[in-house]
Amino acid sequence: MASITKSRMLEEMKLQSGQDPSCCYQCAKCSAACPVTAAMDLLPHQVIRYLQLGLEEELLESRTPWICASCFTCAARCPRDLDLARMMEGIRLAILRRREGNKFGPADLAPEQLSKLPQQALVSAFRKYNK
Ligand code: SF4
Ligand code: SF4
Repeated sequence: MASITKSRMLEEMKLQSGQDPSCCYQCAKCSAACPVTAAMDLLPHQVIRYLQLGLEEELLESRTPWICASCFTCAARCPRDLDLARMMEGIRLAILRRREGNKFGPADLAPEQLSKLPQQALVSAFRKYNK
């Protein structure tokens, strides 16, 4: 995980989500509304702050992006129209795409799996985990 550089993770998250963390002014309304903060080690607005400050090693170790249930409550409350659910998904993708051991290709699947699985699912999975 340490191989993810600061700028690459931030840029990839922005590309994936279409959201710009620099727009956040840390009002914390997202965290006040989030229904699963009890299970998080960083509150949603803190995730944004960590992104703003480039504290990406800490983000990589955080449970929060994986706890987020993509319920969009925070997006509905955000006065800056930021979509944290999309940002969390962008962070998850940035982590998964670079983690050792999370890549796979057609050779990793048995022939019967390749013939039975929906093509769309296979292509999506290869795109998600192969970059
Ligand atoms: S509600 Fe929006 S502006 Fe306020 S802290 Fe959360 S993301 Fe930032
Ligand atoms: S989308 Fe995620 S961060 Fe936002 S309120 Fe729902 S669980 Fe919390």
